[in-house]
Amino acid sequence: MRTQLVAGNWKMNGTLASSQALLKAILPPIAPLAGARYAVCAPYPQLAAVGQALRGSNVQLGAQDLCQFDDGAYTGGVSGAMLADCGCRYVIVGHSERRAVFGESDDVVALKYAQALKHGLTPILCVGEVLAEREAGVTETVVARQLDAVTARCGVAALSRGVVAYEPVWAIGTGKTATPGEAQAVHAFIRGRVGAGDRRVADALTILYGGSVKAGNAAQLFAMPDVDGGLIGGASLAADEFIAICRAAQSAQETVKA
Ligand code: PEP
Repeated sequence: MRTQLVAGNWKMNGTLASSQALLKAILPPIAPLAGARYAVCAPYPQLAAVGQALRGSNVQLGAQDLCQFDDGAYTGGVSGAMLADCGCRYVIVGHSERRAVFGESDDVVALKYAQALKHGLTPILCVGEVLAEREAGVTETVVARQLDAVTARCGVAALSRGVVAYEPVWAIGTGKTATPGEAQAVHAFIRGRVGAGDRRVADALTILYGGSVKAGNAAQLFAMPDVDGGLIGGASLAADEFIAICRAAQSAQETVKA
């Protein structure tokens, strides 16, 4: 049985003080939610302090990106080794903002996925189409290309050590959420594509949905058979919203999947 995961992506927001205040608000209500997994992906300068605050809680530490290279002369880069040293468990790779704003190619994303694994981190691989691609009917082609870049470089078995997040770009930060049916269709496609390579890896693979998930729509999304939780942007910065989303994951966990 797969375990639901809710990962907050704080993006480039907050200060040490505001992050501590947010954790103070969310950790006590999340503490009794034993059935699912929870994480927050903090900005680099906050990782050590956030990790300290999370110690002993049921919320894991994550980062939002990593460098595709090992330690060395890469000014401004942050390596997988450094993230592991900070106590990170998760790292997001291939977020659409990294792909679009920072020009990360599918292959760079695959290199980052490999680096995460090399350092014992669980990569959260983001895939998803832009609006024009959805309207052109090529969502599956785009998602397959992004996924295949990782399996080509790392092998399909490498997906057993990671998480995939389907994030339609048109739904990120826009308030427009994919319907549960739209999300389920792409999640089933992803599981099927991985399953063509290795059925057991596919059955065990955690596939998150991301894109304007909030308290009001999380339960319906997480109830879909191939939706195993969410990657949460804006709503992860609002304590009440994030807590409600975590509760929705906990409830969904009571439904047996796979
Ligand atoms: C994200 O940034 O990964 C995301 C899903 O953002 P939002 O929830 O704000 O749409």
